[in-house]
Amino acid sequence: MTTTSPVPIPEALRFRAGDKVTDIDPGATPGFKGSKSDGQQLQEERSARLAELQELLYANHKAADDPRSVLLVLQGMDASGKGGIVKHVVGAVNPMGVRYTAFGKPTEEELAHHYLWRIRRALPPAGHIGVFDRSHYEDVLVVRVHNLVAPEVWGARYDEINAFERELVDNGVTLVKAAMFISPEEQKKQLLERLDDPTKHWKYNPGDVDERLRWADYQEAYQAVLDRTSTDYAPWYVVPSDRRWYSRLAITELLIAALEGLDLSWPPATFDIETERRRLLDS
Ligand code: AMP
Ligand code: MG
Repeated sequence: MTTTSPVPIPEALRFRAGDKVTDIDPGATPGFKGSKSDGQQLQEERSARLAELQELLYANHKAADDPRSVLLVLQGMDASGKGGIVKHVVGAVNPMGVRYTAFGKPTEEELAHHYLWRIRRALPPAGHIGVFDRSHYEDVLVVRVHNLVAPEVWGARYDEINAFERELVDNGVTLVKAAMFISPEEQKKQLLERLDDPTKHWKYNPGDVDERLRWADYQEAYQAVLDRTSTDYAPWYVVPSDRRWYSRLAITELLIAALEGLDLSWPPATFDIETERRRLLDS
């Protein structure tokens, strides 16, 4: 079975200057040639690898004071599958080492602060994988589309976000920014499923239809995010998300690549193993 193509998934998904959001095929599976069941089989193997890498990250912090962390930023329209990534991809690793935060409409307290205030408070501690289900990018997406602040205000945020992310990287945070793209047809199908299934009503928000009506505005806002905030130190990855098995595999691969880039190994014992063995056996 040769399911991976010559281009690894992360490389195939990396946003490149000049790429257009309108050219994205949300049903594509870049970097992977296999079927859904091939993808699901590979997902299982790769989830095990991800879990091992996460344990390495955690172990290095615990035993060797390694200050590093990884931050997964998930952005995408409603029903693009962010929740599924949390459940199926992040769910495969030990929750002990995960810091998950969902960013909804800011509370009154949050609104009284700078928009990065709530973001800073949610950053992953050393040794952890942080997961942002939406993020500071909402402040140049929903905020831009709905003119929640003046254009000069959101317009200044791209550079500010770049500076903020530079600071994170300098402090040992590896950012994995995944922009999940679904087609309007797939979104309609997913939202209809939520209406048809009483166990999914809790996920349905009438406001999702209003956002859906602003599709073109969101496309434009996503284009600006990609154009202006995909940097060499914190690049964006464009994840086609109509096929959920693929987006899950893709984000698993993005996380694996980020963690492998940290070049982690098991921290050596800080005690004498033979002495400890003898003490234990004699106890
Ligand atoms: P959900 O992720 O489905 O729980 O929805 C969260 C909602 O909060 C979405 O409609 C977001 O657009 C909205 N939201 C998140 N961050 C902001 C923000 N900074 N300003 C306004 N709305 C936001
Ligand atoms: Mg929602």
